[in-house]
Amino acid sequence: MKKTAIVTGASRGIGRAISLRLASDGFTVLAAARADEVKAADYIKELKAISPASVYIPTDISVRADRERLVDAAYERFGRLDILVNNAGVAPTERRDLLEMTEESMDRLLDINLKGTFFLTQYASSAMVRNGGGEMIINVTSMSAYTASINRGEYCISKAGLAMVTELFAARLAEYGINVYEIRPGIIRTDMTATVTKKYEDLIAGGLLPISRMGQPEDIAKAVSAIASGAFPYSTGEVFNIDGGFHFRTL
Ligand code: NAP
Repeated sequence: MKKTAIVTGASRGIGRAISLRLASDGFTVLAAARADEVKAADYIKELKAISPASVYIPTDISVRADRERLVDAAYERFGRLDILVNNAGVAPTERRDLLEMTEESMDRLLDINLKGTFFLTQYASSAMVRNGGGEMIINVTSMSAYTASINRGEYCISKAGLAMVTELFAARLAEYGINVYEIRPGIIRTDMTATVTKKYEDLIAGGLLPISRMGQPEDIAKAVSAIASGAFPYSTGEVFNIDGGFHFRTL
């Protein structure tokens, strides 16, 4: 029986690359995003071409019933859940200065990025512990976990919170042999960054990054693939910066 991996936010961008890569690596993927099957048809076709057994399950991670259905599907359909990749996330619909950020925007970001991911992880890891066999959890956070951007503070706060979620579950699940990792992407070319591509390209041309290019979703997928291969058994709570070298100071 093949190993299974849940990947949230799988229909586009980074999650799409991660899910297709894990499918190529031999995992049966339970791919999740909010879009229905009709809207996600092209993606589902791509996934099934690589791994016919993999499934797409429309899921809003901020909705409890959806989270539970997704995890339950792993056990009902395949009898196991080996890896959870928490990738789904949103940016603010409008970038607003910190002094004008709305409570509604804060609620939306925290509900999806932080609370949704936390409770999906709680439900999935409880099921892994109950059923045995769970192997690891990988959280896709962001350089925004430690970089203050004053025009999307709610996003930064959600990702900083997720960094602690990684450490909390790493501490709690180690005794069950379930390792928890965090990947911090830098600036990656996806729908999320489409409206600010020019700004980022100019910053990169001006020397922002040691590796002088925007990242591609596949850069993150390669890291997930390496971690999912089990290459880091004596490591948990670890952060992988996949960011072109953004995270260290230079002079
Ligand atoms: P994206 O292109 O906007 O894709 C986001 C994916 O998440 C889509 O599949 C979307 O599908 C899904 N999604 C959104 N809300 C969801 C929800 N409530 N429940 C389930 N699925 C949901 O974004 P991306 O750039 O690939 O980002 C993926 C992750 O990487 C995010 O957590 C993001 O914060 C993080 N990240 C991105 C960058 C970057 O530069 N792009 C940098 C650092 C970190 P639906 O809309 O159909 O739900």
